Formats: sequence, C-alpha cells, structure tokens
Amino acid sequence: MKATTPKPTYGTNAHKYMTRIAAELSGLEDLPVGKERTVKAPSEQRFDFSTKIHDGDTVFTILEEHAADPDLFAIPGAWQEQHGYIPATKTGLAPWEAQRFLNMALEQTDLDMRYLYLSWALHFLEDCGMPYHTTLDVTRQATHFAVEDYVDANISKFAPQLRSAVPVSISELFNPCKKLAESANAYVDPLYAAWTAGDKAAVDRLLAPILSVTESLAAGALQVIGARPNPQPFSAVQAVVIALPAAAVALAYTKSRGP
Ligand SMILES: [Zn+2]
Repeated sequence: MKATTPKPTYGTNAHKYMTRIAAELSGLEDLPVGKERTVKAPSEQRFDFSTKIHDGDTVFTILEEHAADPDLFAIPGAWQEQHGYIPATKTGLAPWEAQRFLNMALEQTDLDMRYLYLSWALHFLEDCGMPYHTTLDVTRQATHFAVEDYVDANISKFAPQLRSAVPVSISELFNPCKKLAESANAYVDPLYAAWTAGDKAAVDRLLAPILSVTESLAAGALQVIGARPNPQPFSAVQAVVIALPAAAVALAYTKSRGP
C-alpha cells in the first residue's frame, strides 16, 4: 500500500500547523470530547485507511492530529484532481470534498466525530490555497513538490502571518474553496518565477498572504460551524456567495510591494 500513498499536499506538518492555529483563532473551547474508536475513510476512498480517536482527545487535538489524513486516503491516481481546483477549467474536486466532509461533520451528534470530519474538510480548503493545486500547467507542476516540501519544512516561519489572520465568517466551504483557489491561482506564475530564480525571500513574500487568507477562512469556518449548537447540514445550493476582502487586500499588497 505504501507505493500508492500519494505525496502529501502542503505536507503533513503544514496541514497540522495551520489547522491547529485555526482552532486557536476560532475561539472554540478546547474541551475533551474523544471516545476511543476507530474511524474508516468513506467507502469509495482507499479501503485500508483507518484512524483512531482516543478517550479524552480534545477538540484541538482532534482537529490537528487528523488534518493530514485525507492525503492518506486519496483516490489512487487522482490525487491532484481530488485535492485541487483549477479555475481555468472549473475542474478539481477539492471544493466538493470540503463541503462533503463539512456536511458529514454537521450530521454527527458525537463531538469527536464532528471535529474529525471538520479537520478533513479544512484539509481540502487548505489545499485550495496552494497555488500549484490550482493549475495543470506542466511546466509549473515541475516545481510543485519542491515548493510544498519547502512550505512543509518552513511553515513555522509564517507563524506571525498565520497567528494574526482574522477569521472570515463563512458557513459553507464550497464557494469559499473556489474563491480561494482563484486567489491562489494568481500566485502561480510569480511563485514559479521566484522559485526557479532561487529567490527564497520572494517565495516567502508570495506565500505569506495566501497562507494568511487560507488561515482566515479555516479559522472563520471553525468559528461559525464548529460552534453551532444544533448542527444542520448545509448544501451547496443553500450556500451564500461570500466576498473575500482579505484575499483582495493580500493580492494588492503583494502587487504594490513587489519582490
Ligand atoms: Zn491534500
């Protein structure tokens, strides 16, 4: 099974780090909610994936620990399609996967299961903020893993931007994921240019705002959805198109400052 394990998106560290900070920013209480159990991935995914929740696991622990799980049950051979969204072709399943796991989360009456599925939902949101998950351009894709490895190894460098992210209030994930992917897509060319030029400072300047916007959405989603006392599933049809002021501001900031 190891051979078919896909390359983690953004890397395990980055997903866990960002989701942990989202939990802290959300204002949720870090209560112990875990009950000992084994949870399998949805049946159409890799059949052999299961993960454990333990007695006393807390809200934050569950959100953080399971943030990278979806890369371990990715659809074999279709990882990029499942974990991305390409605005140019309107293809890629990540917005649907995010919303699906959010709906599953809201159907749970056990809080540990609810936060497990929320963690998986946020994974797909975070993937939509990774510029290389918003393009199929072969040349750009050549640097995909190298940049992700870099982000994974250096995610704590972005702590100031991530921890100062302002939660954006959202009650669904489908549209925010698509909008985030559109924002992230604007970074593909500059990021590729900075990376191939070996300009790590420019790479950092380009990554910071999109990571920050992603964090704002993740924290905002948890703030609104994680705290709902009587959860009801949202559907994409019900979804309200939300504005992304933070994304626009971040983009303008990058363009005005330049490398
Ligand atoms: Zn992923």
